[in-house]
Amino acid sequence: MKRLVARLRLHHLIKLSIKQQKGIKMNNQEFYDRLGVSKDASQDEIKKAYRKLSKKYHPDINKEAGAEEKYKEVQEAYETLGDEKKRASYDQFGPAGANGGFGGGAGGFGGFDGAGFGGFEDIFSSFFGGGGGMRNPNAPRQGDDLQYRVNLSFEEAIFGVEKEVSYNREASCSTCSGTGAKPGTSPVTCGRCHGQGVINVDTQTPLGMMRRQVTCDVCHGTGKEIKEPCTTCHGTGHEKKTHKVSVKIPAGVETGQQIRLQGQGEAGFNGGPYGDLFVIINVLPSNKFERNGSTIYYTMNINFVQAALGDTVEIPTVHGDVEMTIPAGTQTGKTFRLKGKGAPKLRGGGQGDQHVTVNIVTPTKLNEAQKEALKAFAEASGDKAVNPKRKGFFDKVKDAFEGE
Ligand SMILES: [Zn+2]
Ligand SMILES: [Zn+2]
Repeated sequence: MKRLVARLRLHHLIKLSIKQQKGIKMNNQEFYDRLGVSKDASQDEIKKAYRKLSKKYHPDINKEAGAEEKYKEVQEAYETLGDEKKRASYDQFGPAGANGGFGGGAGGFGGFDGAGFGGFEDIFSSFFGGGGGMRNPNAPRQGDDLQYRVNLSFEEAIFGVEKEVSYNREASCSTCSGTGAKPGTSPVTCGRCHGQGVINVDTQTPLGMMRRQVTCDVCHGTGKEIKEPCTTCHGTGHEKKTHKVSVKIPAGVETGQQIRLQGQGEAGFNGGPYGDLFVIINVLPSNKFERNGSTIYYTMNINFVQAALGDTVEIPTVHGDVEMTIPAGTQTGKTFRLKGKGAPKLRGGGQGDQHVTVNIVTPTKLNEAQKEALKAFAEASGDKAVNPKRKGFFDKVKDAFEGE
């Protein structure tokens, strides 16, 4: 039974895929075991263990089979236990997880590099697939995470910007406050399954009476019965709503980076928290510049007279035009550095540089006066016009006529 949700919403809103963790028993001990620490370990001990194991299993260091998997497991465990808030939630909802349904908060493996949806494994989804009566239909469950792709201009990515994003999401029903019951009434424990969400069915077979568990047909597995459903949400407790949120995008972001906004995803179930919104950055190209990290690249076309004699030129940068001196005798392909004229460094602070590569353009249409001037230049230069180690053009012509 696979539950994969990855549908497009609006133009660029995607519901994160949810992978069922078949056969993986998650409990609130697992992450501690991965780091080899006790449940009452201090943040210091957790950090120390994490560092040690990260080094040990790092794919660049450890080439043993399974090391990378171990490395990922350690990262995942630390992402939860290294954050006191997430750790508390993991500790709290773990016991529910032992019954098949995890509560909210322990999910959300943020900070990935935008390679895709991998890593967003909803550990709570085992709730749906767990074996028969092992599940707890009343456990709070976090709502789904959402993704929103936002396009930024080249300059917005460099200087940062605040963007308002608007999208449709499943929100908690405003009429019934998410209970699904008509205001003034409240859901009651399902009379058929007594809140278990499943019922036993006895079937006569040639081998004798067989007993199996099926989802309760009255409450559909929720364990609760709504006698008078809310007319707005028809008992689901959720209501589709347009949601607006303002996103502060820091200066220096790049394509593929993500900003996580807690609680801006979809409404939870059984009182579980909202999921998160992941804003994925897409930086549009510039027609002038290229960028890699904090370094900005620009190509400046100059003519060979400027290259030979030197010149002062105006160079555009994202911080405004600046003057740059091209020394006499500059060769094509030479790169100059304009310090601090790049993009801000996201980590460590400071500002990158702009690299200016000089491209010498050879004229293609010369008038007579220009041709004369160049011939005069060639004559004045003699053999040394281009390269002293090579024969001049006129010498080559002479050689060709004189033969060997
Ligand atoms: Zn029931
Ligand atoms: Zn409602």
